[in-house]
Amino acid sequence: MKHELPPLPYAPEALEPVISRETIGFHHGKHHLAYMNNLNGLIPGTPFEDASLEKIVMEAEGAIFNNAAQVWNHTFYWNCLAPGGRKLPEGEFAHALLRDFGSMDAFMEQFSKAAVTLFGSGWAWLSAEVSGKLVITQEPNAGNPMRRGLIPLLTFDVWEHAYYLDKQNRRPDYVADLWKLVDWEAVSRRYR
Ligand code: MN
Repeated sequence: MKHELPPLPYAPEALEPVISRETIGFHHGKHHLAYMNNLNGLIPGTPFEDASLEKIVMEAEGAIFNNAAQVWNHTFYWNCLAPGGRKLPEGEFAHALLRDFGSMDAFMEQFSKAAVTLFGSGWAWLSAEVSGKLVITQEPNAGNPMRRGLIPLLTFDVWEHAYYLDKQNRRPDYVADLWKLVDWEAVSRRYR
């Protein structure tokens, strides 16, 4: 089964000025696409040849895992963002956020810290445990919290390719700015 690169859910310039069209062009059009092409090149003749992307992320190891998880993570990341951001946390998710972090500001501070302090390349995640409890985790490289039984709700890509063209080495500025684009409607919807 050939995996296909999902189109961006918005125009490539729609996230400006936080994320430039140029960054999107490289990040979606080259990095994300390369993981997809690598995956398609790696799976023929393996038990994952006809598996869904989710199954590969859950079960594969090594290069197949790395490329599959990078494909999944990037698609998820694009769908965590929306031009101009969208609303605030709502419904049950908003309650859980206050219950588990005390306030929106406290949550954002903890999540930002996880994103900024992750050493090297990787992802910061907000996920839900099966019980509904919210947790922030750092995942190096292609890491995905589903591998630990968590339900992903929000992620920030902190690989340098996500921000280097726009912010150079200033990861804290990228993280601080990225909050402006978070699609809280989508994040809230995932918490059910
Ligand atoms: Mn990336």
